[in-house]
Amino acid sequence: MSGIQKATFPVYINTLIAFSQTIHNKLAHNPLLLLAAAVVTATIVSVLLLYTMPAAPKTTTIPNEHKKPLEFIEDVTTNAGEVQNSVLSEILKQNSKTEYLHRHGLNGAGDDIASFKKFMPMVKYEDLQPDILRIANGDKSPILCSLPISEFLTSSGTSGGERKLMPTIDDELDRRSLLYSLLMPVMNQYVPGLDKGKGMYLLFVKSEARTPGGLVARPVLTSYYKSRHFIERPFDPYNVYTSPNEAILCSDSYQSMYAQLLCGLLENSLVLRVGAVFASGFIRAIHFLEKNWPRLSHDILTGTLDAEITDSAVREAVMKVLKPNPSLASFIETECRKESWQGIILRLWPNTKYVDVIVTGAMSQYIPTLDFYSGGLPLACTMYASSECYFGLNLNPMRKPSEVSYTLIPTMGYFEFLPVNHRNNSNDETLDHHDLVDLVDVKLGQEYELVVTTYAGLYRYRVGDVLRVAGFKNKAPQFNFVRRKNVALSIDSDKTDEVELHAAVKNAVNHLEPFGATLFEYTSYANTTTIPGHYVLYWELRLGSRAIPPSVFEDCCLAIEESLNSVYRQGRTADGSIGPLELKIVEDGTFDKLMDYALSQGASINQYKAPRCVKSEPVVQLLDAKVLSNYFSPKCPKWVPGHKQWLKDN
Ligand code: AMP
Repeated sequence: MSGIQKATFPVYINTLIAFSQTIHNKLAHNPLLLLAAAVVTATIVSVLLLYTMPAAPKTTTIPNEHKKPLEFIEDVTTNAGEVQNSVLSEILKQNSKTEYLHRHGLNGAGDDIASFKKFMPMVKYEDLQPDILRIANGDKSPILCSLPISEFLTSSGTSGGERKLMPTIDDELDRRSLLYSLLMPVMNQYVPGLDKGKGMYLLFVKSEARTPGGLVARPVLTSYYKSRHFIERPFDPYNVYTSPNEAILCSDSYQSMYAQLLCGLLENSLVLRVGAVFASGFIRAIHFLEKNWPRLSHDILTGTLDAEITDSAVREAVMKVLKPNPSLASFIETECRKESWQGIILRLWPNTKYVDVIVTGAMSQYIPTLDFYSGGLPLACTMYASSECYFGLNLNPMRKPSEVSYTLIPTMGYFEFLPVNHRNNSNDETLDHHDLVDLVDVKLGQEYELVVTTYAGLYRYRVGDVLRVAGFKNKAPQFNFVRRKNVALSIDSDKTDEVELHAAVKNAVNHLEPFGATLFEYTSYANTTTIPGHYVLYWELRLGSRAIPPSVFEDCCLAIEESLNSVYRQGRTADGSIGPLELKIVEDGTFDKLMDYALSQGASINQYKAPRCVKSEPVVQLLDAKVLSNYFSPKCPKWVPGHKQWLKDN
């Protein structure tokens, strides 16, 4: 079923209802005909409903190469408890000589699982930071892990404004590759025939740095794309990409994007699925296409590659597929010139069956934009992973985004769950490691924070993700991703919490002092209607005697950006994934109106506090209706790869 058909089903159903009402009126005098018409209508409705029901696997023959991965999933989910115990036992055995385990009373004496359960505390990044810094500074002794730390994976979660550093070992690449290898066997059950075409995936590497001790520090996907597991992957007809490796590995994001889109357009009729890791990245690619299609189609017309693509490896790889194709160029031009870009994905890549992007969690804010550009194609969220550990996959990838659940694969790490209190929507501060629940003991409908123990040396590490148990695959629970804790604003992979935002606003407000103005109240909003999205701050001021020139408000915007974490500043500066921060000055009394609105919606007057971040459409509309003036950050904030500390040290 194509996405367009799916999107128009409600229209069919309405038409059908209208049709059956007409028939009913016309045939009311003839009971036999009426009955026949009712049966026909009911049959058509059932067929339509069958189509619109959550997708169930189609009964296709399973290709031989997919049988083993599917059996693996059956096996590890059926024996989830046993597999988890042996994972924990392996991790503790492998790392029994580490300083960390000794510090916590585990010495490889044979009763380590019992001691682990009893004594091992839950930790956050800050608790591990001293150990991690020792490793980063070159201490090669077995601190967290007995095997050598091969590199650090830099998380998009930050601590003290810098990316968290997650230790990893070579073996982890095998585990990650294993999870990737399960994706297609699962997908093929729902969308068969993907071996008959290609995937247009827009994948990018990011910059890397070295720690003072010489270890590479880079994002997990950069590490994966640069590994032999990715570069030297054997040919698999189900996983043929339009993007050449050279284009994916090009560190210049402009050249990389240009080359990947060009190659995707050149093979447009072969493309059966399109995607990127996160929804924000995919939308950025569409925006890039909007700006650059004349040059792309010119290259296709002439068979020559734009001079701005200077990376020789990229040029060579693209030239292998670039041949003059005037009819394709004219087709692209005709489609791209049309006033509306609604459905552009399906128009340019007409055989696409789905868009493979993560739209759960913070990325759900992009669903309407994706629906618009894709023409209602299914959005497939296939995987749930992090720098700390790859967790699991979606065994029913054609499900609607709101129904997506991820099955944690029990071999990936040892997973435990800290219950989240429904009343205050966070963990009870009194909970500790004794309250942790094992993977196979979680309860349907309950929310938990994920706590992970990894082969690379994290023990009872709080990931910060809140998950809800949505069901079970055999004994293994399946989780909805509910939210990441403490994230107020997010556009791309940036995660800004309220404390950080508050500190940034405080720094900016200093610029108002010379004018005698003070900040009365503020809130913020992640505006994803622009491409790229951007942070918006609403300020209600108490003005002094001197007028504030616009340049001062612009300085405030920049001061906020300079104070935000390194992932935000990288997104603004190097990746172009976040637009300039916007400051909106609102009328006096706006925040009183905001309070009135909250009270009208049932908030308690005694407990009311102005929210530091707003999401709901009516609230944003209320604020926007009160805007007196607005200002944008005049330039990008400063950002350099690596931690501030290392730069000072070097
Ligand atoms: P990072 O540490 O930068 O690798 O980011 C990992 C985090 O991204 C996870 O802990 C989640 O908060 C988020 N994430 C990863 N996969 C998904 C997903 N499928 N749905 C929602 N959020 C996700």
